[in-house]
Amino acid sequence: MDLFEFVKSNIDILDLVREHTSLKKTGVYWKGRCPFHHEKTGSFTVSPHKGIFYCFGCHANGDVIGFTAKIENCPQIDAAKLLADKYNLQIPENLANRDQLKQELQIEKQHFKTCEIVTLWCQKNLTKNSLAYNYLVETRKITPDTIDQFKIGYFADGPAAIKSLINFANSQNILLTDLINANILIQTKTNTYSPFEDRIIFPITDYLGRYCGFGGRVFKTNDKRAKYYNSRENPYFNKGALLFGLDKARKSIQKQDAVFLVEGYTDCVALFQHGYPNVVAILGTACTTEHIKLISRFCTQIYVLYDSDQAGQQAILRLTELCWNFNIEVKVIILPEGADPASFLASGETLETAITESQDIYKFIVESSCKSVSNEKLANKIQGIEKLINIINTVPDQLKRSILLEDAARSLGLPIDSLRIKPAKINPPINLTDSQIQVNSNHSPTNYIKIDLIEKKIFAAIINKPELFINQYHPLITQLSTPFDKVLNTLINISVNLVDNFEYKFEQVLGSLDLAQQEFIRQTIMSEGAEIGADEFKHLMLLFLQKRWKFIIDQTKQQITSAQNNLDHAALAKTVAEFQKLKTTLLGEIK
Ligand SMILES: [Zn+2]
Repeated sequence: MDLFEFVKSNIDILDLVREHTSLKKTGVYWKGRCPFHHEKTGSFTVSPHKGIFYCFGCHANGDVIGFTAKIENCPQIDAAKLLADKYNLQIPENLANRDQLKQELQIEKQHFKTCEIVTLWCQKNLTKNSLAYNYLVETRKITPDTIDQFKIGYFADGPAAIKSLINFANSQNILLTDLINANILIQTKTNTYSPFEDRIIFPITDYLGRYCGFGGRVFKTNDKRAKYYNSRENPYFNKGALLFGLDKARKSIQKQDAVFLVEGYTDCVALFQHGYPNVVAILGTACTTEHIKLISRFCTQIYVLYDSDQAGQQAILRLTELCWNFNIEVKVIILPEGADPASFLASGETLETAITESQDIYKFIVESSCKSVSNEKLANKIQGIEKLINIINTVPDQLKRSILLEDAARSLGLPIDSLRIKPAKINPPINLTDSQIQVNSNHSPTNYIKIDLIEKKIFAAIINKPELFINQYHPLITQLSTPFDKVLNTLINISVNLVDNFEYKFEQVLGSLDLAQQEFIRQTIMSEGAEIGADEFKHLMLLFLQKRWKFIIDQTKQQITSAQNNLDHAALAKTVAEFQKLKTTLLGEIK
């Protein structure tokens, strides 16, 4: 048994799902409105018996771990850990890698708790330091409410402050070593201090809202230290994969299917405060593939709001290279020269006009590149144009490519033929999450639409009452179409006594199928799940066999003809023997 199986077998799917939608019992199933798509009538079904859910509207399906992964938009392993934590599951002794896993979970938990306690302490300090508080409220125009929402704080300085932090942490069961391990405090032979001292503190959480690190900003005009100090990288604080504000923004990002991407904490806070809650910031690094991947889990549209300086332009250029691999559209919002998002909004402006006038990232790149190369010397100009053409050629859409080339030719005053059109480098979108694959791909049950209703009813009945049918009708039931035969054969092969722990075994087998097959099977069980008696089952089997028998005869005839034509006596004998065997086993079963 591994962690996944342990978690699954210890959590009642009904309890879990009910936290997100209300369910009513209908027959052996529970029904309610789907938490994954908007709907008026409930098409979301849960089978507590099987530990699975299936939505007839959006085809979302899975078990407790799949449900959590989908709700939290996180990988399955994170979902399993979250559930183990949430339900306080005691991971048993015999679980493989138990000690290591337990230790990992423990260290992870302690790190998040440490950061949370430090956040609290810094919040308290802010109320005591009027200079820091006024800097935020008066200078940066951040309202007390926003300060509270983002838990912005102040890291007091001096040995007395460090002592007070250690004492406060101790009172919350956080040790000095925890503070040192989280790189909040640094201990030398003679001294214990923090690089965050006398800085405004922006606590950074992961997308689940767990405190994992800090950004510290200087605020005194005479403070000559680096403007920002960020937590050092560790397994729970990876700047290249974290987005500031995402835990608060994710709901509205999903709702609006769009995100504002800004460069700093204060810009992020400012947008949030001015009514744009779907905003996240990168943490003083370049945007990475990981960032885009994370964003693409929540929406399909990014509005980039970077500074209008050279560095900002360069950063946007880099974004084009990252984004075309993802199923995500990027638009650039251009603010008046010299303005940054925070100051722009503080002056009473809104973003609405800028949003309407926002430019497709490729168009933006073409215009700004053309502007910058037009004053260059010939050699640099050619190089610049080459680079631009290469970028344009990464656009998958041919029409868009032609338009961009025309724009470029016009801006540069060159004939379009001189900007050679190369074939586009088209890569398929990558890195879709499991949940996206389930919704977006053609894994829809229609692939199996040819399987008729009789077979579906038979299969659902067997899974509902394996003790009644599975032994009695074996080997007949292994004649069902794929993937039913696959499931039943595997079930029969893995255990002598199937009925014991049947749900668990069934989930295991289901997990070994591909996503489309899993979905199809869950849908079948939920839709054809009415309980049926022995007589009705026998009747269904007869109907199925009639059809199946006809198919077998046709197939055998074909094989015989082909063997005769090839004068292949061995094949002929084999076909006839197999037919005889089938005849006795199948027809012998039902009389
Ligand atoms: Zn749904």
